[in-house]
Amino acid sequence: MTAPRVTPQQAWDAFAAGNERFVNGASAHPNQDVERRSELVNSQTPDVALFGCSDSRLAAEIIFDCGLGDLFIARNMGHVVAESITASMEYAVTALGSALIVVLAHDSCGAVAAAIDQSSRAPSETTASVRHTLAPIQPSVQQLWLRDNTDTPYADAARIDANAVGRLHLAATVNELLRASRVISDAVDRGTVAIVGCQYRLTEGRAVPYTVVGPVELELASLDD
Ligand SMILES: [Zn+2]
Repeated sequence: MTAPRVTPQQAWDAFAAGNERFVNGASAHPNQDVERRSELVNSQTPDVALFGCSDSRLAAEIIFDCGLGDLFIARNMGHVVAESITASMEYAVTALGSALIVVLAHDSCGAVAAAIDQSSRAPSETTASVRHTLAPIQPSVQQLWLRDNTDTPYADAARIDANAVGRLHLAATVNELLRASRVISDAVDRGTVAIVGCQYRLTEGRAVPYTVVGPVELELASLDD
């Protein structure tokens, strides 16, 4: 085990400050020069591990205004927990000393829209691998759909709030990561690591925190908003 160099709170504060600079058009573009590149040749010490959707608009080092060696990142469509994702986050926590895992969802997510479509009466044709990858999002579609609709079990994209589905799936992703990893759960239990789930708003560029597990004080938005 590599001990974290900072507390989860310190990691979150620095991470959130980077996003704030980006939101305000005041990015400092730190850690992107030749010196930083040279400094990192033999080691990396990212304090934050990020697991997010692959969406091209979520370029992590840009939207969190950081640079080389700052974020350990794993992404896939719809941020769906898989063994390779769990392993990557575990590696960050155990070998690299990351103190914070950020799960990054976003609004207007194509994977969430596709999961809603796959939950509809007449799903679109897609490949088996896409279908399997989207399957873990479908319980969140169903949860929201059946809360408000009792006439049919099939979701209708025109009658469901896709961003609200995305937030339910974000919370489910955080839970699933903890369920899948004893190592991460134990680190959170000890208070050396925290997980924060954020939904990124494409228009303003802000990563809004909706869920936290572990020792980070922050203002959470309501999952119902
Ligand atoms: Zn997405």
